[in-house]
Amino acid sequence: MNILVINAGSSSLKYQLLNPETQQVLAKGLCERIGIDGKFTYKPEGKQAVKEADVAMPTHSEAIQAVLNALVDPVNGVISSMKEIDAVGHRVVHGGEKFAKSVLITDEVMAAIEECNPLAPLHNPANIIGIKACQTLMPNTPMVAVFDTAFHQTMPPVAYTYALPYEYYTQDKVRRYGFHGTSHKYVAGRAAAMLGKPVEELKLISCHLGNGSSVTAIDGGKSVDTSMGFTPLAGLPMGTRSGDLDAGILEYLMNKHGYSIDEMLNILNKKSGVLGISGVSSDFRDLEDAAPKGNQRAQLALDSFSYNVKKLIGAYAAAMGGVDAIIFTAGVGENGPETRANSVSGLEYMGVKLDAEKNKVRGKEADVSADDAKVRVLVIPTNEELMIAMDTAALVKG
Ligand code: ADP
Repeated sequence: MNILVINAGSSSLKYQLLNPETQQVLAKGLCERIGIDGKFTYKPEGKQAVKEADVAMPTHSEAIQAVLNALVDPVNGVISSMKEIDAVGHRVVHGGEKFAKSVLITDEVMAAIEECNPLAPLHNPANIIGIKACQTLMPNTPMVAVFDTAFHQTMPPVAYTYALPYEYYTQDKVRRYGFHGTSHKYVAGRAAAMLGKPVEELKLISCHLGNGSSVTAIDGGKSVDTSMGFTPLAGLPMGTRSGDLDAGILEYLMNKHGYSIDEMLNILNKKSGVLGISGVSSDFRDLEDAAPKGNQRAQLALDSFSYNVKKLIGAYAAAMGGVDAIIFTAGVGENGPETRANSVSGLEYMGVKLDAEKNKVRGKEADVSADDAKVRVLVIPTNEELMIAMDTAALVKG
């Protein structure tokens, strides 16, 4: 079974054609600068990547047509006709409270996704454009929506309710939703496989640490709390996002500097996080270069990030009444031994103990805890495309 996975942004579109049963990726790539000057990248498995500039892509439709053409191309294609695409799985950022799991896309589902647009005004409309473009080009192929928020719909009210007047929840839908759900769900499943136990019997803390970062408490396979909130701006300090802060700071800075709300949010989304603290970069590799050379702000950014991860681990162990395993995933979690070590240092009293040698691992599944540690620390590369393809295949098979 071949599933085309589509992750559509406002001017870009990532795609992957894969078989969820064998986990084989047949081809993947990226359409960029849609509506501008179209850049197209296509990488068939086992062959050289094809890159083309100035591809006519006025809309997402032409971008998806370019993807389909490449997949069936006589020279570099990986399938002989579009009939070999059994279904399309679409990443959708926000499913609000309507979607607690992935769904087959119908007209009613499309309307419900559109209703969630105000909750993710930058992302959902782009996801919808991607779905509509695919529906036009592949009218007989089933489509599935996989939501970033769905996995967190199991959170109890104590975890998702903000201490605001309650009508902002009932009328305006202001609550914690959480994001990165596809990733947290995937690594929880892999952790259970690695530990040889059903996920229903495990208390897990999943640390998705990338450009955007979130930590999730997963009790018995269900998300019970997560650090991102109403928007992906909440929780940990990230590459360029501030994470949690005192809302009073907004009023103070806006009054003092005369910022509009848009300017203020641009600072919180694009100029803050480890970039803001360090003044060096949002990329952890640059910070890890700069800190040992004496850049104290780079060191502070790294320390502040790990400190906040550690605080969330402590909080979620408390929320669940214990923890069996802590998972590190995404760019920094998979590739940053120092960040992992600093994030769990001092947690020995909880039964967490790293094996320094094993913790040198980068980018592959490993148990990096000491043999006698009570709490396992796992490195698990995330695979959101595979999770989307698995959900899509399961729904299409019925
Ligand atoms: P996104 O949230 O955009 O999907 P990723 O999960 O790809 O982000 O994470 C990107 C971040 O991962 C980079 O900004 C970089 O800081 C970090 N990263 C990637 N590779 C390494 C590495 N080898 N060592 C340390 N950090 C890394």
